[in-house]
Amino acid sequence: AETWNNVPLAPPDSIFKLTAAYKADPYPHKINLGVGAYRDDDSKPWVLPVVKKASQIILNDATLDHEYLPITGLSEFVTGAARLILGENSPAISEGRVVSVQTISGTGANHLGALFLSRYYHFNGDKAIYLSDPTWANHFAIFNNVGIKPLLYPYYDPKTIGLDFTGFIATLQSAPERSVFLLHACAHNPTGVDPTEEQWKTIADVVVAKQHYAFFDTAYQGFASGDLERDATAVRYFVSRGVPLLVCQSFAKNAGLYGERVGALHIVTPTKETADRVRSQLSVLQRSEISNPPSYGARIVALILNNPELFEEWKADIRTMAGRIIQMRKELYRLLTEELKTPGNWEHIVNQIGMFSFTGISEVQSKALTEGAHVYLTTNGRISMAGLNSKNIRYFAEALDGVVR
Ligand code: PMP
Repeated sequence: AETWNNVPLAPPDSIFKLTAAYKADPYPHKINLGVGAYRDDDSKPWVLPVVKKASQIILNDATLDHEYLPITGLSEFVTGAARLILGENSPAISEGRVVSVQTISGTGANHLGALFLSRYYHFNGDKAIYLSDPTWANHFAIFNNVGIKPLLYPYYDPKTIGLDFTGFIATLQSAPERSVFLLHACAHNPTGVDPTEEQWKTIADVVVAKQHYAFFDTAYQGFASGDLERDATAVRYFVSRGVPLLVCQSFAKNAGLYGERVGALHIVTPTKETADRVRSQLSVLQRSEISNPPSYGARIVALILNNPELFEEWKADIRTMAGRIIQMRKELYRLLTEELKTPGNWEHIVNQIGMFSFTGISEVQSKALTEGAHVYLTTNGRISMAGLNSKNIRYFAEALDGVVR
């Protein structure tokens, strides 16, 4: 018998498959709205000017070498990253209660956080985590991999193309005490639907009352509103309420460092003594998995986070990206409602936030867009707003109008 007879053929990752199909399509007006990566107005990847500047500084720095980083990562990077999400004046940071570890971007942070919970969280019954319905598809695999069962809480309501707040709250209330809930800090993927500040307060009230654990995933800080501080509001509020939590942080999107794999896991604990114990075990886990994280991207982000001038430039670059996306939302809304008079309500296009928009179109309509109009999108009707630009938005609006009419 052949050694690998027992290995079944797995289907290709749907997003990467979509990109491959797009690349293979010779049609000149094709549009890729699948992948969640920023594109400029010419459909090109964008190297942030501040990142170019920071790379140059690193290149010219004769003191740098290629030695290993510490197991928990570059300390200037992780401390800066913690301040970015938890706030300049975070009491949790000044009290030494935050454990921060550099990870392989947001995916690695989710994995390390999941692994740590699977080892050390005092689960009430089954090892399980509640994920929003829907969520980033990789969440299912990440938690399954470490033996934590993914469960769903209601999140998106197809009837309103908005938040199913009632269903969400009901599940928070009916779940056993000390359940773990994964929360998207801002710019929810795939729906673009976020709770309002008031709704976050109500969510926190129930989380506190039921002593749930909040597993925050923040892959889009700055991308939602264009403002890093504002997009950190939910996480900071939960910390201020004393909710036990961790944060998985990615710099892929907001610094455009996708392939450099820059991220961090932050665990907020009740005391410095707890933090020291947690840090020691995270180091043990990290050592066996990746030994130590990669240095290049972390050095770039560390420079940006710790140099006030570069930090201001980064904020301007983020406003450029978020601003262009918000502009595309307004323009798509205008084209559909004013020019084309497309049937249906399209308010959600401008109300949703961040990289993605759930258009509300069906699987059949999504497929028709791809097959008939060479517009590539996932079959759940999600579009990456960053794939739209001043040159292709009219073509897209007309194609969308064509499939819903
Ligand atoms: N979480 C969510 C919700 C995401 O959308 C993404 C990126 N698609 C990630 C985490 C992690 O991405 P990365 O590993 O590239 O930082």
